Amino acid sequence: MTGVVAVDLGATKIHAAVVRDGAIVRRLRRATPADGGRAVLDAVAAAITELTGGAAVAGIGVACAGIVDARSGTVLRSGATIRDWAGAEVGATLAARFRCPVVVDNDCNAFAAGLLRDGPGRSSVVAVMAGTGIGAGLVLDGALYRGPRYGAGELAHLPWPGVDGARCGCGRPDHLEATASGSGIEQSYAAAAGTERVRLHAIVERRANGDPVAAAVVESGARALGTVLAGVAGTLDLDEVVLGGGVVAAVPGFADLAVQHFETEVAARGQRVAIGRATRGDDTVLTGIAALVTDRKDTHP
Ligand SMILES: [Zn+2]
Repeated sequence: MTGVVAVDLGATKIHAAVVRDGAIVRRLRRATPADGGRAVLDAVAAAITELTGGAAVAGIGVACAGIVDARSGTVLRSGATIRDWAGAEVGATLAARFRCPVVVDNDCNAFAAGLLRDGPGRSSVVAVMAGTGIGAGLVLDGALYRGPRYGAGELAHLPWPGVDGARCGCGRPDHLEATASGSGIEQSYAAAAGTERVRLHAIVERRANGDPVAAAVVESGARALGTVLAGVAGTLDLDEVVLGGGVVAAVPGFADLAVQHFETEVAARGQRVAIGRATRGDDTVLTGIAALVTDRKDTHP
């Protein structure tokens, strides 16, 4: 089979695709098993087999949450998005099973690699994914930058004063993720409204129906994200910030609000930095991890 298999492994879904010359030619989605660890790896393998009909594959790329050793394909650290995921030897397991090269990387890095493939002239970019958690892939001097311990781009823990009771995935309060992620918005809503925690889509619905608390927590999340990213843009002398992820996709106007706060901040210091949403959404993660399989030249060692 020509082309490579790309897998975007999330907390709730496994999105697998055959990517040929940068284009997705076939895809399928399956649920991520809640049991975590081994069951998730088995489900990824099953999705690949189903997608390819058992034909030999030229290469496999897996993008997932967590800090991933991109050389060995082992997950070093992981939040609560997938149970028992830290330590998962994703690369070695799939390479033994499918007998082909396997690349495993953080999903935000794959997102950044996809943007680089779409626009190779990009020099310094932060590719942000605001979903259940918050992370980013960094492109510096035209190449993906992972950091010496593969942890670069961990925006989640940048300080931001949150509401009482809302926690970052690391367990600490007053981190960006506790206000601007899907989990942070859900926790902030529960704390501010004095209710049980409800899912993000319910908060979106309540906001559309005029719930002022729902509107306020969405606004707070967007303000936190836009303001913190403006600081990052100054720190790294960025050309561009690209927004993606589940919150950006699911909450109408969230990206626009974040952009407004970002632009207010950078304009105040006379800086010009482009900011916008990823045009191809989640597909950028798939084409990005596929690009990392077929071409490792655009990565720092
Ligand atoms: Zn944190």
